[in-house]
Amino acid sequence: PAAPAYRGRFAPSPTGDLHFGSLLAALGSWLLARAAGGEWLVRVEDLDPPREVPGAMQRQLAALAAFGLHSDTAIVRQSDRHALYQAALDTLMGDGRAFTCHCSRSDLAAAGGIHRRCVAPARTAAVRRVPAIRLRVADGTVIHFDDALQGPQTQDLAREVGDFVLKRADGHWAYQLAVVVDDAAQGITDVVRGADLLDSTPRQIALQHALALPTPRYAHLPLVVDDAGRKLSKSTAALPVDPRDPLPALRAAWSALGQAADAVAGAPSAEAFLERAKAAFQPRTIPRRPALEPAAMHNSAFTKLT
Ligand code: GLU
Repeated sequence: PAAPAYRGRFAPSPTGDLHFGSLLAALGSWLLARAAGGEWLVRVEDLDPPREVPGAMQRQLAALAAFGLHSDTAIVRQSDRHALYQAALDTLMGDGRAFTCHCSRSDLAAAGGIHRRCVAPARTAAVRRVPAIRLRVADGTVIHFDDALQGPQTQDLAREVGDFVLKRADGHWAYQLAVVVDDAAQGITDVVRGADLLDSTPRQIALQHALALPTPRYAHLPLVVDDAGRKLSKSTAALPVDPRDPLPALRAAWSALGQAADAVAGAPSAEAFLERAKAAFQPRTIPRRPALEPAAMHNSAFTKLT
């Protein structure tokens, strides 16, 4: 079958309940997919058990359903896909682009945490840690991309990031590897997500180049900040949205995306809201910089923490 012209995705990590920042990414990616006449799918990024919360995946998926946001295809879980990540790693190890590394965080502290060459002191076998596996980033590797919302971006990957981890010393896959493998395997044409991931994108593009995978288009949504200018994720306002009462949170997310409140006023259900939102959505009015915290964030959009 012909590849779709537009396939977007929402890729939550089950590290807690769906919060406002995630709803913004879910709604923004859904609206942009629908505006393009494209598909939208949900992928569960459950590769970091130390950070995961039992039951969070089920609660996030139930919340998405309550918000009327349904994946067009069966929901994929990264924890079912180890063989794909291993195959990509084998390719990179096989052609010498990836290497095992015993450097610890403290070994790299003197270099600002940036890995350019292995500096781990020789350790006896008894104290040798399990190695991480890193991608080699050649000197002078500068990545450019044009973000649909944030504009042209440039990162000197060698100097600012260095050789980066693909498989962690604790045995878990790095987000960067898994996201690149899955975006390609799922035929994602457009990655729409929060601007907190803007500076991960050059690593992902470098990996796409190393694996001969296509680079999707990128659009990084504004982060919502609270009244004190703190990123939502760091503020007390990073509260879970209330799936029992989806409309206030949907309205708040809609306005944080720079959309006109009257277009969705009075919608009686999440489904009706999304129908109206789809018809009225203006991609051009999405703000590039953080929208001020919507007033609705202070009210019933959020589950009261007791
Ligand atoms: N799973 C990542 C997160 O929840 C997002 C990945 C992505 O959208 O690329 O932060």
